[in-house]
Amino acid sequence: MKACIVAVGSEMLTPFRQDTNSLVVTERLNQLGIDVRMKVIVGDDREEMAGVVRAALDWADVIVLTGGLGPTADDLTREAVAEVLGTPLEIDEAIVSRIRDRMARAGFVMADINRRQAMVPRGAAVIDNPRGTAPGLWLEHGRTSLILLPGPPREMTPMFEAIVRERLAPRAGEGGLFRRVVKIAGRTESDVDARAEPIYRHWRDQAVPIATTILAAAGQIELHLSARAATRAEGDRALDAAVAALVGELGPSVFSVDGRQMEEVVGDLLRTKGLQVAVAESCTGGLLASRLTDVPGSSAYVERGVVCYSNRAKVELLGVPEQVLAAHGAVSEPVARLMAEGVRARAASQVGIGITGIAGPGGGTAEKPVGTVVVAVQVDDDVRVRTFTLFGDRTQVKFRATQAALNMLRLMLTEPAASR
Ligand code: ATP
Ligand code: MG
Repeated sequence: MKACIVAVGSEMLTPFRQDTNSLVVTERLNQLGIDVRMKVIVGDDREEMAGVVRAALDWADVIVLTGGLGPTADDLTREAVAEVLGTPLEIDEAIVSRIRDRMARAGFVMADINRRQAMVPRGAAVIDNPRGTAPGLWLEHGRTSLILLPGPPREMTPMFEAIVRERLAPRAGEGGLFRRVVKIAGRTESDVDARAEPIYRHWRDQAVPIATTILAAAGQIELHLSARAATRAEGDRALDAAVAALVGELGPSVFSVDGRQMEEVVGDLLRTKGLQVAVAESCTGGLLASRLTDVPGSSAYVERGVVCYSNRAKVELLGVPEQVLAAHGAVSEPVARLMAEGVRARAASQVGIGITGIAGPGGGTAEKPVGTVVVAVQVDDDVRVRTFTLFGDRTQVKFRATQAALNMLRLMLTEPAASR
């Protein structure tokens, strides 16, 4: 089956708003084995919208439109679709009273324009919207199913889930496209590909073929695997074997095979080992603490974070001796180590991390160029210190520095030799 997704809204034709609904919709359609062959962004213009729908009806089995179901005059999706299908719009009084009740509960009187949201093309099925006023619509025309959903992502997503469950999945059968993402830290893209390619090269021709894409993101490399299989069990079996082969080759540099981010992986390790972490950050300005605390439940293992940007802060808040700063400079292995030890001692935690570096664009020297970042990680009485040369602009250097620190901690907590 082939699908077309239409994002409706003039705001997405400006530089300020992006269409994200189609990503959510594509992911779910792919899981059902439905191929998304075209995506269109169209403004709030009835004739242009009608043109897009008319063209898609020629080839698509499924057309998903999001946006333009609101009550205002620029919300024209219903009208455009009804025009193309040649069906009249009729008011559905049940929808009117649902909208009126919903607004009354929030203390509002329904405006007359809201009646627009109760206009339904004849023959359409109405899809309940638990999070807003605009209901969705399901229509069939020849071999094509048309799905109309409101634009706000938090309304659209659960409605589309319900359609998948109740209407699309039963037709799509058991087969589909199944995916895994293998995330790797501490290796370059070319190194990962040199090792992985001889393995994944053979997957295209096996009984359950797997397509592989390599993607470089800040601080990590991702291998995206997608298997086309007749059943989920068959897809899982092929993907499990593929992931195991990659992990065998790439070893501990693989930090995630289940979608988790680095900060979640490290958080889970800290939680299960019952460890508390304290961080002292200079060039990353609190980004490491922010990433650690992005994870729900992180209060179980994050004790504190200190932003010690100036030398004075390193002395006053962490007890780094002035002589060490003067002798080695703020970006140095002795200072990073004293930062980790200082914050750990003050927090009385098991784990301490210190980060100091030059994020740029200024401040680099021949000896310590922009991107020089020193990370120290202490776990109990084991201290590791490493100097990295990270590339990218200021934002990227800051992110990569936090990634390097999290990866060092992850490796220390998963070393086979470690008794922790
Ligand atoms: P409403 O009942 O809220 O008026 P609607 O169907 O008219 O629903 P729109 O007015 O088109 O929805 O969009 C409402 C909000 O949803 C806007 O903030 C818009 O940017 C956002 N939105 C619309 N389409 C998309 C999309 N494809 N991806 C991400 N956000 C979207
Ligand atoms: Mg709109």
